[in-house]
Amino acid sequence: MSTDNTMTKTVWQYSEPLPEETMAFLRGIAADYCKVKNFVYGRYSGIKNLNNLTPVYNILNEMRGCGLREQLNLPVVYYELAIADAVTNIKSNWGNVKNRIGDCITTNENLSDDDRIYLRTVLKLNSVYTAVLNHQDYEMPRKADGLDIDVKRLNNLLCRLTRRYLTQPRSDCMDSFRISPNGYSYKDGMMRIVCRVPRKRVSIPLKDNRTFDRQIQIRIRQNNVALAVPVESKVKVHTDHTSTIFIYIGRQDMFTLSDGQIYGAALEELTDPETDRLARKNRERHKMYTVYAQSAEDGDTKKIQNIEANNFGKLKYDRQKEKEREKTKTYINSEINRMISVEKPAKIVITRPVTRNKTKIYARSANRKMTRSFHGYIRERLIYKCRLHSIELVEISSKHTGQKCSACGGEGERLGKMFVCEGCGLNTTIALNSARNIQQKYLAK
Ligand SMILES: [Zn+2]
Repeated sequence: MSTDNTMTKTVWQYSEPLPEETMAFLRGIAADYCKVKNFVYGRYSGIKNLNNLTPVYNILNEMRGCGLREQLNLPVVYYELAIADAVTNIKSNWGNVKNRIGDCITTNENLSDDDRIYLRTVLKLNSVYTAVLNHQDYEMPRKADGLDIDVKRLNNLLCRLTRRYLTQPRSDCMDSFRISPNGYSYKDGMMRIVCRVPRKRVSIPLKDNRTFDRQIQIRIRQNNVALAVPVESKVKVHTDHTSTIFIYIGRQDMFTLSDGQIYGAALEELTDPETDRLARKNRERHKMYTVYAQSAEDGDTKKIQNIEANNFGKLKYDRQKEKEREKTKTYINSEINRMISVEKPAKIVITRPVTRNKTKIYARSANRKMTRSFHGYIRERLIYKCRLHSIELVEISSKHTGQKCSACGGEGERLGKMFVCEGCGLNTTIALNSARNIQQKYLAK
């Protein structure tokens, strides 16, 4: 039943409350870590460097000599991991760009089969792709020999599509950083990490005495840290999993399957009151800021102190928000688990997130904000759990899965959460119609 396959899971470890001095040190490292990443993004995420990203060693070498580390006085262990992290993100950014372009190639009706072969070949060869993007000479790949194509036209198309989809990553995450094993050690139940003073270490007392020897992410919280430790765990193989299921990931119901089964029906309920409450809180806080500004102007020190003492109610607000987010996350995970154990899928088909103008688009309406912010999380967890259970996850383009009537193929109309087709009289939910379209589209391939 089991194989040697493993995958990475995250386990958590927490520190005791830390003195403000330590917290300030950690925040400083996180801020510099972020600066280094953004520097690397600025320098290496463009079309000139696509072919220089592997091995990362070359970039590390260049970055060693650029003076940024000395300027920040950032210890090598943090500096180099920040660089490596940034390069990894740049690579996955390119992976996304290539996926998007791949979709365009598939759906562009002005392309011949030969055109598609050429374009896909170039996308696979970074050296050729880089040359095309930078208008440099290159040797025609062997796979493109004998194709009946207009190379100049196709190269222009590639450049255009790349410009459309390539964005420069940017990090504004100042509350976490990663540390490699040579950056920390343990002593007396404390983790001791490298600091800016040579040969000195900063102590972080931990809540338990587990020790690790791998790269750890340090997440800075109010007055302590959470350590995210990647550990290997065995991938489960289920021989009784045989079905293929088609899922529409929605806002009201989390998953709607093409056979009508629904998982995560309470998602909206969980996220909507949350949204209302947050909006109300935000209005209240805004009012308080106005009073605060006015009191400052009037010199009403007592009122000012009063408001400051409450920290604008932010602490309580953040804690409450965090708690409700955790509750929603737990629900999402348990519903994904339930779906897997009931459906026993060997394969799951979903659509890729829709993108337009370089950003993922979700529902406009403001009161969908919270569900929207969980959309990425749901996908992330589904991908993770599919890997954990050896379920093949197929992502197809969502084109023609929304408007089309799944019964007659005509153009239907969306009314609220319903889908109505005048042609054949189909009257169902948008979610179910889309899930059926996903099934038909996938099977037609
Ligand atoms: Zn119809």
